[in-house]
This record gives sequence, structure tokens and C-alpha cells, in this order.
Amino acid sequence: MRYISTRGGADPVDFVTASLAGLAPDGGLYTPEEFPTIERPSQNEEYHVTAARVLKAFAGDTIEYDVIEDLAAKAYGAFAHQSVAPLTQIGQGKWMMELHHGPTLAFKDVAMRFIAQLYDYALGMRGERMTIVCATSGDTGGAAAAAFAGAENVDVMILHPHNRISPVQRVFMSATGASNIHNFALEGDFDQCQAIVKELFADEQTKRRLNLSGVNSINWTRIAAQSVYFATAQAQLGANAKIRFVVPSGNFGDALAGYVAARCGLLNGFECHVAVNANDAMARLLNGQDLKKGHTTPTVSPAMDIQVPSNFERLLFEAAGRDGDAVKTAYDQLAKDGVAPLPAKALGPLGCMGFTASAVTDEETFVEMQRTLDETGWQVCPHTAVGLHAARYADETDSVDVVLSTAHAAKFPETVKEAIGQDAPLPLRAHEFTSRPEVFETGPMDIAHVKERMVALSRVTA
Ligand SMILES: *Cc1c(COP(=O)(O)O)cnc(C)c1O
Repeated sequence: MRYISTRGGADPVDFVTASLAGLAPDGGLYTPEEFPTIERPSQNEEYHVTAARVLKAFAGDTIEYDVIEDLAAKAYGAFAHQSVAPLTQIGQGKWMMELHHGPTLAFKDVAMRFIAQLYDYALGMRGERMTIVCATSGDTGGAAAAAFAGAENVDVMILHPHNRISPVQRVFMSATGASNIHNFALEGDFDQCQAIVKELFADEQTKRRLNLSGVNSINWTRIAAQSVYFATAQAQLGANAKIRFVVPSGNFGDALAGYVAARCGLLNGFECHVAVNANDAMARLLNGQDLKKGHTTPTVSPAMDIQVPSNFERLLFEAAGRDGDAVKTAYDQLAKDGVAPLPAKALGPLGCMGFTASAVTDEETFVEMQRTLDETGWQVCPHTAVGLHAARYADETDSVDVVLSTAHAAKFPETVKEAIGQDAPLPLRAHEFTSRPEVFETGPMDIAHVKERMVALSRVTA
């Protein structure tokens, strides 16, 4: 199994190389040369076994099945629910897939836990160490910190804007108790943190010195690991069930993982409703409108405040008949002009890939949080509420709805309080974090300072 770039200008690489690399050298996203056919899980197959089979299909010859199963068992043993991604009924023909049973209470744990195991193993085999750097406004940093805590071969450096993330989000990154996780609270905003990360990656010398990599949502292994719970949902509802997945969407990683599951034969057909907030780029793109850079609007579902959903590039590659040149032309123009039409040949296919979409306002999100509480007695997080609201008003079909619950309500206590007037207490298992001291260093939003500190802290030897 080899991986090619969506922009057609990079040499094919194997699974481990694609996973460790993040972006392809031509700026594109790695994607498998062909989608493997994967046998559907039975209802009784354990989650980590399904995960191992799916990931083995994507890994090809690079790693033995037994090793992958061992990595998956370690990754998913840390979940508070033994089925990892349980379905609960919320109405007639309506289910919620609870993806928030991981250590940091958000679905990003599902992929990050596996990636951490994979990286540590693969680097160990290569006799290498690596530094992972990421900027975070919330969930990704926590998931990465918790997943890589104690990794032998990986140091993690997380940049966040000082005093601009919620205390709950910060505690998952800063109270891991692990000496290989380093947090920088910088004076400024998230976009500036992200700009520093971009500069670090553009600086070849630092990149080499620290053996830098990322774990952001364009990493193929994240997509592969997330395709697993679409397959287990299908298995639980029955092989013949017709399902419409409703996915709260930001960078489009989760929704794309559903598409990938379908392409690998893991689903009975494919219907996916993409639910977005006021940042509705993904809804517009699925309608064939232009790629456009723009400012994000802050909403009560901040993990979805995205203007250019990075994983859309992978869908566009498929819609354009895997024409890397056409994709490259569009993204080059986007970089140059801030706007670019989609390739003409992609427009027809894009409408036939099983996706629909709708946008949900903050006000509707609040209303939905209260309605869900009234109807089921449950507190839901604002991102999940975007999905629940979209499902409530989407066109009726003869499919059942499975709405993805992407985070635990307790991760957004201020919003929950405002919406439903209740506290959202952290589950007991989070006390693992709240009982430890927070460790982070504050500093100026200055790349020279950040670089110097990273070199001082990293275990990568030059
Ligand atoms: C990251 C995130 C999303 C969006 O997922 P994408 O894969 O980026 O579309 C939705 N909800 C929560 C809570 C998240 O952390």
C-alpha cells in the first residue's frame, strides 16, 4: 500500500513515512494509491480488533498485524467505555455515537491515541527521535499531550495563547505529569501561535535540528483511525441498516473518514450530513462554490471555527478523478489570490458522493442543547448540538440518523451553563488531570524565543 499526494507532485511513500511526514513535500495531502477492501466487523468483534484490521489494511507490509493489534489494544485500553464508540438511542430512528470516552473527553483522542502508539513504535524501530509541535486553541493540544505523555521517542511542544483557552482545556495539556510534554503559553492569539508553527516548519535548519513533525488533522493515520467507528456503528445497527451519519464538522477530517469507510466496503451505502456553524465553508464547497480564504467567526463551537477545511482537498482529489494537477491548480490559485474556483470536472461528481450539509447558528445551538436536555435528560457539548440540530431539520430520508457526539459537555462548562443553566461537572476520570499540578511556561510571541526553548528542551540530538 503506497501513498500519493493530492497534488500529484510527490514520490509515492509507504504508510509509516506518510504518517510521520504529515504534509507531502509538494504541499498536498497523502492519500492511499487505492482504497483497500476491508471485511466488515461482526457485532461481536472488539473495537481494538476492528481498528487493527482497518489500520493493517492501510499499513500494508510496513507493520505486522500482531504489532498493530498490540498498539491498538494499548491505544483503546485507555477509554472509559469498553466499546470505545458506543451508540445510544436519542429518538425513533435516531442515535448518538459517543466519541467522548477518551482521556481528554473529545473524539480527537480516538485517532491521537493510536498515532502516539504508532509513532513511538515506528521511531523506535528506526532508532530515531522526533519533536512534535502544534498550536492549539483547544482540543487537539490536549489530545496530543495526553496521548504522547511518557512516549520514549517523542517530545511534544504545544503552543497556546496565554489566558485565551479555557481552564478545562488547558489542564489536559499541562497536567499530564510527563516530562516529554512541554507547554508554551504565549502572549497573543491563536493565529499568531499557528503562524509560529508554520515558520518553524519552513525553517529547514530547525526542522532538521528538532526532527519536527505535526499531528494535525491532515495526517492520514487520523483519517484511517477515525474510519473505524463508522464501521462499528454499521455493525451494531446491522449490516442492512441504512444510515445517515450526521457529523459536526471543522477541518472535515471526521466526515471524510466516513467516506473512506464507505469506499473500503465497511458501510451499507453512504449518506453523510455535514453540520457546520457560522463558518460554513464546507457547506458552500459541497455545493460547488469557490475555495476562499477568509476570517473565521468565533462561535460557541470553537473547534469548528474553520474557513478552509483542510481535508476537503482529499475529497476534491476524488471528485476530480484523482487529477493531482487540477487540484494543484486550484490550491495554487487559492494561495495566490485568496479565492479559486473548483476544477470544472469535479463539480458533477462532488454532488453525487453522498454528502449534504447545513449550517447552524449559535442561537440554534443553545436551543438544541436545551431541547436535548428536555427530551433525553442529557447535557451535550455545543459541537454535538450543532449536529443534533442539523439532524432535526435535515430532509427526511428512509435512513436512520447517527449523530456523532464529538466532545463531552464538561469540556465546555461556560457554554453549557449559558445554554441550560446547569453546571457540567467533569467525570471522575478527569481527576487524573485535575489532581496534578499544571506545568507550562509563559513567554513572548516570538519565534526566536520559542526556537531557543524548544532546542533546550528537546531530547532529539543533533
Ligand atoms: C475537532 C473537532 C470537531 C471537528 O472535527 P473535524 O474532523 O475537524 O471536522 C468537532 N467537534 C469537536 C469537539 C472537535 O474537537
